[in-house]
Amino acid sequence: MQQIPLDIHAHGRQKCGSAVVSGSPAEVMDMIEDGCPGPFSAGIHPWATQNLGVEGMNLELARLERVVELPCVVAVGEVGLDALRGASLALQEFVFRRQVEISEAVGKPLVLHVVRTGHRLMELCKTLQRELPQGIRQPWIWHGFRGSPQQADQFLALREKNYLSFGERFNPAAAAAVNPGRMLVETDEADMPLSRVVDNVADALSTDAFSLSGIIQANLSRIFPAIYE
Ligand SMILES: [Zn+2]
Repeated sequence: MQQIPLDIHAHGRQKCGSAVVSGSPAEVMDMIEDGCPGPFSAGIHPWATQNLGVEGMNLELARLERVVELPCVVAVGEVGLDALRGASLALQEFVFRRQVEISEAVGKPLVLHVVRTGHRLMELCKTLQRELPQGIRQPWIWHGFRGSPQQADQFLALREKNYLSFGERFNPAAAAAVNPGRMLVETDEADMPLSRVVDNVADALSTDAFSLSGIIQANLSRIFPAIYE
């Protein structure tokens, strides 16, 4: 696998090769069959929990366990909690916990989708840190972070391996408050090119795009040591 692209989170085969492309296990398998080399992240999105039911969910989890073994799948996600869409938060939480376990078992970072559930997600992070036999060892990347400086601080203070990814829209005060060594960038669904995202985040940090890109590249090499060794 070549280096991880600077764009840590995007969707769709048009981003193939220029971003870590995120999809369901089936979507990732389709892209691989179409010749997309990756890298990918694969996960059961909170929105996808809507109509699956418990049995469907277990099948999907089993499929995910197979897909994340592939070398071109570098992360598990996006996964998480969404108070506005998807199944009940109880079912979403069940699926999320299982995917944390999968991330730990396969040794690949987790990409988080968090909508109006930041407090709950941080509680779960603390609980799982205690409950999992070896705690949480994998990096957690909160993608599309739009929260406040306080929320950024709280999440990053939980573990050294927690990161925040900033995209098309974010709170400049939060970006300004974050140590760049814990920061990533993404395009997600936006049409905005990654270079604009990097420019905007660099502005918020009062730095330049070149310096910020270098720091993010170094962050990626810590998050994905197996790929950079
Ligand atoms: Zn996304």
